[in-house]
Amino acid sequence: MTKLRVGWFTFTCCEDSTILFTELLNTHWADWKDKIEFVNARILKENNKIENIDVSFVEGSISSEEQVDKLKEIRKNSKTIIAIGACACTAMPSGWRNTFDEETKEEIKFLIDRYSHLEKVEPLKTYIKVDDSVQGCPMNEEKFLELIGNSIK
Ligand code: SF4
Repeated sequence: MTKLRVGWFTFTCCEDSTILFTELLNTHWADWKDKIEFVNARILKENNKIENIDVSFVEGSISSEEQVDKLKEIRKNSKTIIAIGACACTAMPSGWRNTFDEETKEEIKFLIDRYSHLEKVEPLKTYIKVDDSVQGCPMNEEKFLELIGNSIK
């Protein structure tokens, strides 16, 4: 049986959906292990690749040029991309600094410059085509299970 090649990626965020995802392995690993190959999942393994991925789940918002480049590379190498959680779908709450007044933005400017961050934090869809999404903060577990279940039927 050909396994579904899956990637799990994280950008700017608190990684709570990653924690939810690993918790779900407690109850779903037995079912998934013969159907899914994790091609890229930093939380699970060290040897991670971005190539020939069937479904990429992408958590977090985009806040630097480096992230934009990586996100585009993921898009190029994935048949389907699913945005995971509010930060990936809307940039909030990770993008809270977008709402700062000018004075507060000035106060944090040295950090933005030091880490080469972009002026605004953006959702995935600003830079790439997103095929589907799992809303929620953290992600809605049922919707995630439904999407992954449909993919390995
Ligand atoms: S959507 Fe919520 S839980 Fe997910 S990374 Fe953003 S802040 Fe964390």
